[in-house]
Amino acid sequence: MVNLQRIGLARLNRVCSVLIAALCCPLASSKPAPAQAASLDALVRAYPDFLASHDGKVLVWKDGTRMPVSDGRSDKTFEERLGHASILDQLSIPYVKGPLARPPAPEQDPGRFRNTAFFDKMYGDCSRGEVQGRLVKVAWLPKSGGGSVPITTVNGIADRLRAVSEELDALGPDIRKFAFPSAGTFNCRTVKDTGNRSMHAWGAAIDINTKSSDYWLWSQGGAYRNRIPFAIVEIFEKHGFIWGGKWGHFDTMHFEYRPELL
Ligand SMILES: [Zn+2]
Repeated sequence: MVNLQRIGLARLNRVCSVLIAALCCPLASSKPAPAQAASLDALVRAYPDFLASHDGKVLVWKDGTRMPVSDGRSDKTFEERLGHASILDQLSIPYVKGPLARPPAPEQDPGRFRNTAFFDKMYGDCSRGEVQGRLVKVAWLPKSGGGSVPITTVNGIADRLRAVSEELDALGPDIRKFAFPSAGTFNCRTVKDTGNRSMHAWGAAIDINTKSSDYWLWSQGGAYRNRIPFAIVEIFEKHGFIWGGKWGHFDTMHFEYRPELL
């Protein structure tokens, strides 16, 4: 009898720790300090034109600007993080490079938390016309007749997208057809469900052909679906772009420049 109770308790303990881990892991505040420091190191490394250093609490820009990495709130909900992400929130969900082993969990949205002040400072505020002057047109899969797309030159993104385009254009016709025409790049707009700025508003994102794309808001009951071949995703990731197909709130046409997560 005692043994049975012990076994029961042990099992309960195990279930509790799994539940606690599942609830806490995606939250920035629960990331141990060394993991947070490593994420901040990656952030500084990813944007060498702008960032100088961090001390775990403050991010220092090359122009001397200092930004606190935390807003001091450890109790934020997923929605609060989406709406008002701190810099640590922005780095809190790891993005896994390479093929997807399984559909992402519902709130597994690496990269969807974005700190507006951080990206406004880097790319400009489009509502004040600051992004527009930094855009150039890049030929999109020119051999396939994909037209051209406006994209920011900040962080060398236009050159990186040109490299992506060349590699995509060299793929077989059955694969490259998913990539063109582009469904859009720069757009001074907010994300539908968050009211926050999307990477499109900073000229640092591209949507590929919508014809074979899947989006959580279009899907019946929100069930995950993807038809984009991984060969396309792999090329974008190689050049610093993350893929919206790795989000629980999936958007398989969407790629954005987020080298800090790769
Ligand atoms: Zn998009």
